[in-house]
Amino acid sequence: MNNSVTDCIFCKIVKKEIPSNLVYENENCIAFNDIKPASPTHILVIPKKHYKNLWEVEDKDVLGDLLLTAKEVAKKAGLQDGFRTVINTGDNGGQTVYHIHVHVLGGRFHKWPPG
Ligand code: AMP
Ligand code: ZN
Repeated sequence: MNNSVTDCIFCKIVKKEIPSNLVYENENCIAFNDIKPASPTHILVIPKKHYKNLWEVEDKDVLGDLLLTAKEVAKKAGLQDGFRTVINTGDNGGQTVYHIHVHVLGGRFHKWPPG
């Protein structure tokens, strides 16, 4: 099965063609530390299969897996005091990597609304 996109940096992380600091993996998702952390804990959760962003995902299982994995990752990272989950979609959403991902941010208080 090859669902990857050749020039997608996160697909390359899935295939271990480029290194990442992997913190969790299950059947459908991986999680790794963000290279430029915005919080003491900043983990990205992605499906192994390539989807550009939320616009492109119709499958409830994919979205369910992503959020449940994000929760599992937060639990394993010791974020019982709470955490922020973010999915940036498209240019106005501030998306810079076009392989859907959930940011899991923790270890400090997160203000609302975000910038
Ligand atoms: P977004 O702006 O929502 O698309 O988030 C993309 C995130 O990916 C940013 O927080 C980047 O710091 C992060 N990022 C980009 N390249 C890498 C990489 N090679 N390894 C880990 N995180 C990365
Ligand atoms: Zn990809």
